[in-house]
Amino acid sequence: MRVKVDTERCVGAGMCALTAPSVFTQDDDGFSEVLPGREDGGGDPLVREAVRACPVQAVTLDE
Ligand code: SF4
Repeated sequence: MRVKVDTERCVGAGMCALTAPSVFTQDDDGFSEVLPGREDGGGDPLVREAVRACPVQAVTLDE
């Protein structure tokens, strides 16, 4: 699995970091980043919830 955030699409709503804090964080401007080393999702099932939670579908999974 590969977790990606489309930074062009992200509006900084923060739902991903709230939903799966082990995988996502927010930069100083509030935009989402995948935490270093967590690009594989770290086996966290909440990643799928984060995909659903993002209001602009900026989080995608390559499986
Ligand atoms: S939930 Fe979507 S819009 Fe909000 S910070 Fe995460 S990627 Fe960006």
